[in-house]
Amino acid sequence: MNAAVSSVPPSEPHVMQTYGRLPIALSHGQGCWVWDVDGRRYLDGLGGIAVNTLGHAHPKLVPALQEQIAKLIHTSNYYHVPLQEQLAAKLCELSGLTNVFFCNSGLEANEAALKIARKFGHDRGNHNPELLVFEGAFHGRSIATLSATANPKIHAGFGPLVPGFVRVPLNDIAAVEAALDAHPNITGIFLETIQGEGGVNPARIEFLQALRRVCDARDILLMLDEVQCGIGRTGKWFAHQWAGIQPDVMPLAKGLGSGVPVGAVVCGPRAAKVMQPGNHGTTFGGNPLAMRAGVETLRLMEEEGLLANAAKVGAELKASLAQGLASVAGVVEIRGQGLMLGIELDRPAGALLAKAAEAGLMISVTADRVVRLVPALILSSDEAAQIAAILVPVIKDFLAVPA
Ligand SMILES: *Cc1c(COP(=O)(O)O)cnc(C)c1O
Repeated sequence: MNAAVSSVPPSEPHVMQTYGRLPIALSHGQGCWVWDVDGRRYLDGLGGIAVNTLGHAHPKLVPALQEQIAKLIHTSNYYHVPLQEQLAAKLCELSGLTNVFFCNSGLEANEAALKIARKFGHDRGNHNPELLVFEGAFHGRSIATLSATANPKIHAGFGPLVPGFVRVPLNDIAAVEAALDAHPNITGIFLETIQGEGGVNPARIEFLQALRRVCDARDILLMLDEVQCGIGRTGKWFAHQWAGIQPDVMPLAKGLGSGVPVGAVVCGPRAAKVMQPGNHGTTFGGNPLAMRAGVETLRLMEEEGLLANAAKVGAELKASLAQGLASVAGVVEIRGQGLMLGIELDRPAGALLAKAAEAGLMISVTADRVVRLVPALILSSDEAAQIAAILVPVIKDFLAVPA
């Protein structure tokens, strides 16, 4: 384990100061382990925030990407990129949906979803389309996606917000029905299947099923942001598959390229039809390098049985955390599914990032009080046991000091 984390932050006079960083600079990784420039080793419970699906330096991903870089990185969307159809067909096979738009990040996938929902309204003569969104939601930091996001800290300083969002509590179907009655211009319901930044809050299965019925009855779009919870993280390809439903629109990003930036909006036929040539586009979106990363990520996930692994190792990790933290005062709840787990504490817990790093573990803390674990889907049972063995005493020590 690491004796101490350097207290001197690396100097970065030219990088815009948008992040509160730990005083650690990372050098390289292997599997679920990362080394800093001073040679200290960390167990990676963060996975680059649910991005590094295959861990670091995967022995089959690396040569595939090297080969692709040597062939073609980028060409533009003036020409066909055969890998786009290959990845789109795979995403449609896995989701049961029909068409995919490729972009480069989560907020871009959500931005495209918002445009689809607005155009869906305009095409039907609704020229003031609105969307239903939820308390606790996080959808990104562009002007439109931060407007769809709930957290007032993310809004602060960036008004005026984009209009057209109506917000209700999660898992409250009566509130949804009432809002739809009060706002007949709503063209879609937009939510994370499991809220990530909001604190690992799952939409309940019955709630998701009820939303599907409501959207069908009112002929509006069900749009499920699976940027964080999708791509196998919960033990199914997409988190909504636990509810046995299909969305009309599903933005994806984080885990899709195993670290290479790639976003996608996967749509069913009603939603896909609204976009016509000229309606949307992006320079980098769907470039050969990003597409190859997506194709290889999904292929290797199947080859290595990573859905089953995420479900099994995630359940083991959750059980060890529950056992280690049972009856510890200050632990409110342990929740989540597969390898998307949150431990809610009764107090702001940002200080745990540095304490965990000192103990050799990378984690995140979200929504102020929720310790979040979103490691690579290759995590082994032994590594899960090591995460719990490091994290439990760190949390206990932290909570032992009066809040
Ligand atoms: C991270 C995240 C986003 C934003 O993705 P970026 O790639 O950071 O733009 C959007 N929605 C959800 C649910 C996310 O977790």
